[in-house]
Amino acid sequence: MAKRVPYRKIKTHRLYTPYEAALVLGVHRQTVIRWIKDHGLPADTETKPWLIEGRDLRAFLGERQTRRKCCLALHSFYCFGCRDGRTAAGKMADYVQQTATGGMLTAICDTCGTLMYKAVKRSDLEAIRAKLDVTIQTADPRIVSLSDAPINVTFSTGARTHVKAQL
Ligand SMILES: [Zn+2]
Repeated sequence: MAKRVPYRKIKTHRLYTPYEAALVLGVHRQTVIRWIKDHGLPADTETKPWLIEGRDLRAFLGERQTRRKCCLALHSFYCFGCRDGRTAAGKMADYVQQTATGGMLTAICDTCGTLMYKAVKRSDLEAIRAKLDVTIQTADPRIVSLSDAPINVTFSTGARTHVKAQL
């Protein structure tokens, strides 16, 4: 995960060369050039050196960091142990269908081992399965009716089934 850059140090009404921007932000000049070439940071590339408007740079970085915080990649989780975005250990996750259109994805943090949860749309599941090995637990009537049965029925996700059954 890329480190946070102090984009608020960028002055809105200033022009920056990639080198100057890199100095202020504490990143490599090539990183700034990559933002321009590959990630859509607006810049005047007719000039030499290239010039970036401070306003554009701040907007670009602010948007990127907000996006990282609030909307992780589909297959990433927010870990409350690490207080950051994390990937699933072993690239494995469980999905429990909860409504007609969505459900809960659970996985183990690959860094600290905390159980991570994330509400996902059913329609996003295929994209997630391209990145993670997802075991789908459909909440079909057979499972729901087991709430009266002994708790230790042989599900692979025994612990979570237990929690559900108590609800
Ligand atoms: Zn963690």
